[in-house]
Amino acid sequence: MSRSAHPAGPRHADVLPEGHYSAPPADLNTLDAKVWAQTVARDAQGVVTVGGVDVKTLAEEFGTPAYVLDEADFRARARAWRTAFGQDADVFYAGKAFLSRAVVRWLHEEGLNLDVCSGGELATALSAGMPADRIAFHGNNKSTAEITRAVAAGVGRIVLDSFQEIVRVAHIARELGKRQRVQIRITVGVEAHTHEFIATAHEDQKFGIPLAGGQAAEAVRRALQLDGLELIGIHSHIGSQIFDMSGFEVAAHRVVGLLKDIRDEHGVELPEIDLGGGLGIAYTSDDDPREPHEIAKALTEIVGRECEAAKLRTPRISVEPGRAIVGPTAFTLYEVGTIKPLDGLRTYVSVDGGMSDNIRTALYDAEYSVALVSRASDAEPMLARVVGKHCESGDIVVRDAFLPADIAPGDLIAVPATGAYCRSMASNYNHVLRPPVVAVKDGEARVIVRRETEEDLLRLDVG
Ligand SMILES: *Cc1c(COP(=O)(O)O)cnc(C)c1O
Repeated sequence: MSRSAHPAGPRHADVLPEGHYSAPPADLNTLDAKVWAQTVARDAQGVVTVGGVDVKTLAEEFGTPAYVLDEADFRARARAWRTAFGQDADVFYAGKAFLSRAVVRWLHEEGLNLDVCSGGELATALSAGMPADRIAFHGNNKSTAEITRAVAAGVGRIVLDSFQEIVRVAHIARELGKRQRVQIRITVGVEAHTHEFIATAHEDQKFGIPLAGGQAAEAVRRALQLDGLELIGIHSHIGSQIFDMSGFEVAAHRVVGLLKDIRDEHGVELPEIDLGGGLGIAYTSDDDPREPHEIAKALTEIVGRECEAAKLRTPRISVEPGRAIVGPTAFTLYEVGTIKPLDGLRTYVSVDGGMSDNIRTALYDAEYSVALVSRASDAEPMLARVVGKHCESGDIVVRDAFLPADIAPGDLIAVPATGAYCRSMASNYNHVLRPPVVAVKDGEARVIVRRETEEDLLRLDVG
């Protein structure tokens, strides 16, 4: 194999510019199991396969870019969460991470419940047969139409997010002759992201009702008085991509404290607490996520201990993982287009998608990994930046990563761990068509969300 197709590109550690990367890995052909879906492997020819189908076949059949989802891995992760929490707890998959009718059916079959946060997500869930009583409806500004539809459908719970919504949901439920099961979402003054949590004034956000200043207690007082509502519990969601359990510990302590105050004031022990989602996954080899059973054990112990200290019956716990279930199960398959080596800097490798299929790098400075998947290569590592085809210099998919220096137009590369918040946040920027989601299992691939077409674009544009 040629040593380098781009002799001008920086290749040695001593000339590498600043960035978020460690030393180049010893072998670029090795796929770190931590960041790739379970069934991903490289075959004898060096081509990457998933669910027994190789990526060249997938690219030929479905085109690129495409999100490729390992169905067995999705089901295994969903089941692992379900099993870890057992029969005395509920696992609600956060649909906003990625929702399609196939996914709804898998969740239903694996015994999970589902969180939705818009009329569109609710419609998807109901149309795929998720029983309404296993759906929770979230959002800081649910419309009257959305609430009416949710109550009429009989959703298992609505998570109340403001004083106005308490009255609104109660009113709609009464009009429909129903008593709606609800939780109240509170902010406990904890915010957790990645490896850290901060316990200060994180009531300063649009979600929830602050525990501070007695606002949450007042919300409970009002909800208990309204006969259209059945208050079943308190909800707290502290952040995203969390690795450190201490934020959950503080949150559980404060939620249980509120349950105790409610018992003391009203003589009612609320039967449920929901600790939200936000559990982290590995985007790069540097991330070390926790297994569902460790998380379940930690959360169950924290809540048990806090309730025992408060002399409360232990409530039923629910959790809402989104990213932790779907994130690792998919990768985005791209074809390499133009390649620009910038002297002394890095090599820009352009792909046929970009910020329209993965906004997370531009939006949150998210980190991703990338690998050459259509062949193995013995070429030396080259510092690359994987960029899209959009008209923005911030259109970056992978900020810093090593690819083999012989990377060439027409090669297929894949970015792992794109199952969460990529297709669901995809846009039509530059009138680029949103990629399909292809589910692969046992040697078979099928489209579960089809690629957008120019016809789809023009249908919305009514002239
Ligand atoms: C976003 C969200 C989740 C899921 O978060 P992940 O980071 O995907 O696990 C769960 N619950 C609520 C209320 C959310 O807003």
